[in-house]
Amino acid sequence: MRNVVIIGSGCAGLTAAIYAARANLKPLVIRGVEAGGQLTLTTLVENFPGFPKGVQGPELVELMHKQATEFGAEFREGNVTKAELSHWPFVLELGHERIETKTLIIASGASAKLLGLESERKLLGYGVSTCATCDGYFFRGKDVAVVGGGDTAAEDALFLTRYANTVNIVHRRDNLRASKIMQDRLRRNEKIRFIWNTGVKDILDASKREVSAIKLVNVLTQEETLKPVDGVFIGIGHEPNTSLFRGQLEVDDLGYLITREGSKTNIPGVFAAGDVKDRVYRQAITAAGSGCMAAIDAERFLETEH
Ligand code: NAP
Repeated sequence: MRNVVIIGSGCAGLTAAIYAARANLKPLVIRGVEAGGQLTLTTLVENFPGFPKGVQGPELVELMHKQATEFGAEFREGNVTKAELSHWPFVLELGHERIETKTLIIASGASAKLLGLESERKLLGYGVSTCATCDGYFFRGKDVAVVGGGDTAAEDALFLTRYANTVNIVHRRDNLRASKIMQDRLRRNEKIRFIWNTGVKDILDASKREVSAIKLVNVLTQEETLKPVDGVFIGIGHEPNTSLFRGQLEVDDLGYLITREGSKTNIPGVFAAGDVKDRVYRQAITAAGSGCMAAIDAERFLETEH
């Protein structure tokens, strides 16, 4: 019987592990398929407090992992395939293994949706990004493209105008899904250009590990063009990793877990932290902060109720 099981090993899960381990709860962290979370998909992180010269995303994750291990957190590779939360203690299935736990911290994150191009995957962290706040700074005076037409793309594009020379919004239709106020801001910004009715067929140049251009295709005429850019931001939305909990835990209209009073879900003893419950901020530091909250909430639950 475990005191605390943490699902997910990004910033939220690892911070929860550090706190729970330091409270002598010997947490078990199930690392998940995207072990390390979204930080492992980026390069230099310059806005995480405490690193005045920045830190590489994967290194930051490794440091947190080490810190949790030093305090006694245990790690298990793999992915939870089933979570039975209707009775206490909770039961998780990890392949053939059944794990019983008194508390559960869900920090399974949200995965940025990708276009599905091979070049996109290869160039992630090398000019292709899913996070403008994280990587925009590297594109000072450069030309970039933002793919998508919703509020994420709009917000990313506006943020990027602080640094980039031009920001080209590539959208598959001829009108935006983004809210009216964001659309107005985009249209008023002279650094922003729109490329309508257009899809991205390829991103060049994976062989050089840098972005030099995007191959575009007009969805109405099928005409292909090459647009030179230095960076590509994929802003087509996120998918919270909550499918395991559907029907058991309350989710909002986009599938994000709903929490109240800090990290509590609708089931006592089940807590949520990080991007799996955050459709607004999605930052490493906010995920870490909410991981800390979840560990403290789990500790109090164990002390007072069980
Ligand atoms: P979204 O509203 O679902 O928009 C996704 C956009 O990406 C759409 O324009 C969609 O095109 C496009 N898209 C999706 N899949 C694509 C693909 N495979 N190839 C090319 N384009 C693709 O997602 P979101 O922008 O992340 O917003 C999600 C929610 O969070 C919304 O409710 C939004 O208002 C909210 N949000 C709010 C803020 C804010 O208020 N500051 C910031 C971010 C997000 P189509 O339009 O053709 O479907």
